[in-house]
Amino acid sequence: MKAEKKTKTIKNIRIDVDKCNGCRACEVICSSFHASPQYSSNNPERARIRVIHYPLRDLYVPVYAGEYAAAECAGRDKYTINGKEYDECSFCRASCPSRDVFKEPDSGLPLKCDMCESEPTLSEPMCVQWCLADALIYEEREEEVVEEVTQEEIEVGLEAMAHRFGWQKLLDTAARMSKKD
Ligand code: SF4
Ligand code: SF4
Repeated sequence: MKAEKKTKTIKNIRIDVDKCNGCRACEVICSSFHASPQYSSNNPERARIRVIHYPLRDLYVPVYAGEYAAAECAGRDKYTINGKEYDECSFCRASCPSRDVFKEPDSGLPLKCDMCESEPTLSEPMCVQWCLADALIYEEREEEVVEEVTQEEIEVGLEAMAHRFGWQKLLDTAARMSKKD
């Protein structure tokens, strides 16, 4: 398969846990931005970010909804921070069957942070804009990636061209072009 070099924009939100004060503005705006119709409601249960609260320990950790997991994982994370131990899976990003986090409350469908890409004109994701404590910092960088063109992609492309021009014309063109090489 042919590998192509492309430039890809990597989007990143850096989280400074020490600056988070647990205000939950990020949850409110995320749920409101993704409400249908947009901004018609706000409900942090529908947010794609959750601020995990441990007020007695003065710890607030913003966690972004990540990939959907169809089954519970066999291994569990257990964190100790500044000598204090936290519950299993506390800071996990997955929407998984073992808990109710990152699930649409009505349908139970998994929620995943989409970096607010439904609105391409945004300079920064909404949660970053609403975090007045600067605990969420948006960063972008360009990275060169090697993308391999798969057999399936070639077949889909060829089928689309054949649909438009007909197989015979495609074959004649390919034969003529191959003679030039
Ligand atoms: S808006 Fe910022 S300070 Fe407030 S809870 Fe979210 S991350 Fe923390
Ligand atoms: S980047 Fe957008 S989708 Fe992701 S948590 Fe923030 S507001 Fe929600």
